[in-house]
Amino acid sequence: MSKIHNVIIIWSGPAGHSAAIYTARAMLEPLMFEGWMAGGVAAWGQLTTTTEVENYPWFADGIDGTALMMQMRQQSINSGCEIKTQTVDGVKFSDNPLETPHEVYVWNDIYRTKTVIIATWATAKRLWLPGEETYRQNGISACAVCDGGLPIFRWKHLVVIGGGDSACEEANYLTKFASKVTMLVRKDHFRASKVMWERTLANDKIEVLRNTEWVEILWDWAGTLMTGMKIKNNQTNEETQIEAWGLFYAIWHTPNTKFLDGQVATDNAWYILVEKWTTKVLKTQDSWHETYMWVFAWWDVQDRIYRQAITSAGTGCMAALDAEHFLAGHI
Ligand code: NDP
Repeated sequence: MSKIHNVIIIWSGPAGHSAAIYTARAMLEPLMFEGWMAGGVAAWGQLTTTTEVENYPWFADGIDGTALMMQMRQQSINSGCEIKTQTVDGVKFSDNPLETPHEVYVWNDIYRTKTVIIATWATAKRLWLPGEETYRQNGISACAVCDGGLPIFRWKHLVVIGGGDSACEEANYLTKFASKVTMLVRKDHFRASKVMWERTLANDKIEVLRNTEWVEILWDWAGTLMTGMKIKNNQTNEETQIEAWGLFYAIWHTPNTKFLDGQVATDNAWYILVEKWTTKVLKTQDSWHETYMWVFAWWDVQDRIYRQAITSAGTGCMAALDAEHFLAGHI
């Protein structure tokens, strides 16, 4: 019979590493599955798809997102967390994990554990426009940092859909390579923070079209490369055509919780429901008292409001403390 772990942490963003550091220091010997292109993102989560992180306290001049995650990962290891670069395929939660442990499925192996911390980040949402699946590699992307530097986008006119922080960040990043970036914002105002939209409006390579939505994507005669878009002003219904050699979505993120296969309560956008003021995952949506006291979730998978790296790290700490309290006297 395989070892019974105290804590298994699923995936590895700031929340995962914060939980890893706290549970390791509590001598719980955590095991983390950091993921392998889990949810379409490299191990260590969404910060690896961003550029400079300027709002994480401690780094006065900002820090590259991947560099920040490397620091966190090393701190987890130094604290005593074991990390496996694998993706969890599924879980089977137990109602009484101190008697019958939870099971975590990874490739062909089954790991048993008394608590699970769910840190499966969110994945960028796509619009599934006509042609998107066919031309995904030839003009449509949901990650400027991953794809923006590709030759097909260099010195070309590109389009970003969205008006949040992600959209502003993507548009600004793309101006390093593009000749021009047009942002399609469906309202007359940005959702982004003031500092981000002011920076965006000050960038003379970025054109912002407000009250504007996509209508159709246009391709070259061979149907291999995107060349333009038909767009519409949603106030006047006037349609126009613009040149566009690339389209980047920055419209929202969907939490990666489907692999839990309905074993925990989620809202209609797949966010895990947790007991108020804690990270304790609810088993059903109706009962605020019936909880899985031994499964904990945070940030991108349970918080649809704040969704910042720093709140992620904070709730990772909360989940670790909740797990530690649950395990007190049982290790
Ligand atoms: P947001 O929800 O903040 O913004 C999404 C944007 O996409 C909105 O402008 C929204 O329009 C638009 N949108 C949504 N669906 C569609 C659609 N179907 N068609 C057209 N437009 C659409 O998401 P973000 O991913 O930008 O940000 C998520 C969180 O991450 C936020 O809390 C943000 O602060 C944070 N973040 C922080 C960063 C930083 O601080 N450096 C960087 C990136 C993200 P509408 O307003 O009309 O709904």
